[in-house]
Amino acid sequence: MRKSAAIIFAFIISQFQAQQGAYYQQAAKYKMDIDVNAEKFTYQGKQTLEYTNNSPDELNVVYFHLYWNAFKPNSMMDQRVASQGKNGDGRLQKDGVSRLASIPKDQEGAQNIHWIKQNGKDLKFEVQETIMKVYLAEPIKPNSTTTFTMDWDSVIPQQIRRSGRNNREGVDMTMTQWYPKIAEYDYDGWATFDYLGREFHAPFSDFDVTIKINKDYVVGAGGILENPTEVKGYDANAKIKTDKDKKAAWRWTAKNILDFAWSADRDYSVESFNVPEGPKVYLVYQKNDKTKAWGESQPYITKYFQIMNAHFGKYVYPTYAFIQGGDGGMEYGMCTMILGEAKNVKDLMGLMAHEGSHSWYQQMLATNESVRPWMDEGFTSYAEGYTMYQLFPEDLPNPFVERLDAYRNFTKKESKNRLFG
Ligand SMILES: [Zn+2]
Repeated sequence: MRKSAAIIFAFIISQFQAQQGAYYQQAAKYKMDIDVNAEKFTYQGKQTLEYTNNSPDELNVVYFHLYWNAFKPNSMMDQRVASQGKNGDGRLQKDGVSRLASIPKDQEGAQNIHWIKQNGKDLKFEVQETIMKVYLAEPIKPNSTTTFTMDWDSVIPQQIRRSGRNNREGVDMTMTQWYPKIAEYDYDGWATFDYLGREFHAPFSDFDVTIKINKDYVVGAGGILENPTEVKGYDANAKIKTDKDKKAAWRWTAKNILDFAWSADRDYSVESFNVPEGPKVYLVYQKNDKTKAWGESQPYITKYFQIMNAHFGKYVYPTYAFIQGGDGGMEYGMCTMILGEAKNVKDLMGLMAHEGSHSWYQQMLATNESVRPWMDEGFTSYAEGYTMYQLFPEDLPNPFVERLDAYRNFTKKESKNRLFG
């Protein structure tokens, strides 16, 4: 490069950096109290959210995601599925018609916000399907923290995709994208993507969540269970502690994750084991003939984490849970929800290696997967191929042959039918 060109180039870079400003991340701390009515598939929620604005901008509004409002006839998600016709995701359709179109009224998903306050002052808000815009009583200045409190109630939707009640594997409640979640604010501004059943983006957050539910339920979640001796399934010597309504209170905490997810079922078993140098792994699933492979998975999971820790950077969280969510596979903070039924341990491990590897890309690197899903899915698929090749050695020229074939087929599909998960 000639000197004058180098100077111009350096000038352009410095201008670009000046416009972008110093790097920052917003921070959120959630405390939530959840009271589940398991017979009605509803819950009451209370949230205290400490939100820290590390950006150089003064914020006059904030946005929250209310994902479950998508599970209704004629929602944007419903319209998207309908527009795909017979080529769409079969899990969202029945005979080529969107399953959302015929969801019974009492099984529509809902997140009803009763009120929201900022530092004790009532706030005005508007809800447009899955996005809530909140007008602040006082602006949040750069490098300052504000506290929101909120009361809401939710109807757990019929299971359509990823979230919901009574899915086809018989898991009672898969609780994902289940609470009012503050949107990410970064150099692109507010990430206010309507929920169409696709990917997510959020600030790193700490969680302290107490879930009250009938004592015969076992809860699986991504986080640390703070009171295993008071609830069912995690401690052989547990004395289940109940309130007057015969509910047990489960307290979960998690630090620095993007999303807190949980599930509840009366037939779950819990197994756990330690990978040397971490994490502690939990398997939460219904033990039956169709889920036998879970019982054989421990040595493979151990080796999987060892390979990932050695070659992709150490997993930073203390625990990870593989939870039978009963529908496909989707990654969340410190856990995944996956199908329970598997032909054999290799098929199960393929799903576990894929969803587990999202912890490195969707969770730890946390790029905006709503805008650039390939950054997450691409690297995750690479790690899945890399680890599976070592767990189940095959006579292939390289670990990525099957993925390259999948990519070739993928590029031949119409773009609107491409799936991420
Ligand atoms: Zn994926």
